Amino acid sequence: MTIAWRPRSVRVRLALWHLVALVAVLALYAGGVFVFVRHSLMANLDGQLHEDFERAEDAFARNPDGTLSYLIADREPPDPADPDTSAGPWVVVWALDGRPLYRDALAPAPVAAWASGGVAVRPSFRSAQAPDGTWLRELTGRGDLAGGAAIVRIARSEERVRRETRGLLVVLLLGLPIACGIAGFGAYLVARRALAPIDRMTTAARGITAARLADRLPIDNPDDELGHLASVFNATFSRLEASFEQLRRFTADASHEMRTPLTAIRAVGEVGLREPRSSQEYHEIIGSMLEEADRLNRLVESLLTLARADSGGARLLREPVDLGGMAREVVEHLSVLAEDKQQAVTIEAPQPVVVQADRLVLRQALINLVDNAIKYSPAHGQIRIVVAAEPSDVTVTVQDTGPGIAPEHIERIFERFYRIDKSRSRGAGGAGLGLSIARSAVEAHGGRIEVECAQPAGTVFRIVLPRGNPQQA
Ligand code: ADP
Repeated sequence: MTIAWRPRSVRVRLALWHLVALVAVLALYAGGVFVFVRHSLMANLDGQLHEDFERAEDAFARNPDGTLSYLIADREPPDPADPDTSAGPWVVVWALDGRPLYRDALAPAPVAAWASGGVAVRPSFRSAQAPDGTWLRELTGRGDLAGGAAIVRIARSEERVRRETRGLLVVLLLGLPIACGIAGFGAYLVARRALAPIDRMTTAARGITAARLADRLPIDNPDDELGHLASVFNATFSRLEASFEQLRRFTADASHEMRTPLTAIRAVGEVGLREPRSSQEYHEIIGSMLEEADRLNRLVESLLTLARADSGGARLLREPVDLGGMAREVVEHLSVLAEDKQQAVTIEAPQPVVVQADRLVLRQALINLVDNAIKYSPAHGQIRIVVAAEPSDVTVTVQDTGPGIAPEHIERIFERFYRIDKSRSRGAGGAGLGLSIARSAVEAHGGRIEVECAQPAGTVFRIVLPRGNPQQA
């Protein structure tokens, strides 16, 4: 069974990863240094043996009986306390057939042993261990001694090289964990310092609740990664705050709008019940209550429409719709209101313009615009509806001769429940939702609503739909 241990802190994880990488790099480095030093020490020793070999070739004289005399024979006896004087070099010489010709009296046993099997023409190096456990390095080769060929072996102690490499190994092995310990601790401190802003962000984020949405995360350095992260979070918090605020305002406005007709129904009912009345009076009271109920109904319908659009649940049932025909239907539908105010409504649709749209949704948008035009234009006003096909899109323009809309309101009239003149508009029956509904209906079709002032007076609302689907018949 394997147990995957995973430290919970990023700080510890970073420090551990750093440590693992460091151990690997340091181990490789230490191994490289060790191999290099050992190799150069050995190469030094071998170079020395080579020189000894050449010197030995010149240091022999041949006696008349064929034996050899070593001319540098009287060396001082080695001092066992001084490793350097017991380090050689020792010389041993054989005739080509293996007969011993000369042996340094101090040469350790393995040096004097005849290498059976002959000796290669090229000199060869070899490490061997003496009976006392010390190591020797030998060079054996064919040499030219006082005019005759012979096998010459030169040996030196390898102990010094071994001692030095052992010392180096100990230093490296002891130094590695100490270096790693210091580096690991350093990595932990660096990681802690680098991640400290995250701790501060976590604490700040924990404090941001629905009640304290205005708080923001601290940003130490806006240009680094953590600064970017905090900025993104802060932007999200800003959007959240805006939607919370919008929701809060919407709920407050909706409750307020509903309370007005409910209060009216209640008040009319209470007054009606206060004393006995004629059936004519009851008739009027009930009629006025039904009117308020109707207003409430319209409000709830509007809210439902917006809620559906918000949740994206309003699936469009697209079909070919002739915009001129739709304008005529809408005017027909609202003609009673216009006639009440003796307004003239004209439609200009010189050619049929057909778009792929949800007939009911688009019709509602147009009804809201024409209804507003009628509502806000004075008696005897003129309302002009123009359907046109542009090269890139199609437009339905509704122009009236009403009071117009001041620039400071233009930005806000599409907001929910926004009314320029609350008393005037409520009297006319609006809750400030008509334009919001119209805009969401048009946007659902990929279009937009533009608004501008008409000359000399009045307002122009324009529904602009993309020509993607529309076909001009
Ligand atoms: P309402 O139900 O109050 O009409 P709307 O969302 O349709 O709500 O319109 C928002 C506000 O924009 C209205 O209260 C009104 O003040 C202003 N408005 C809309 N249409 C016109 C118009 N044609 N002329 C002047 N003002 C308008």
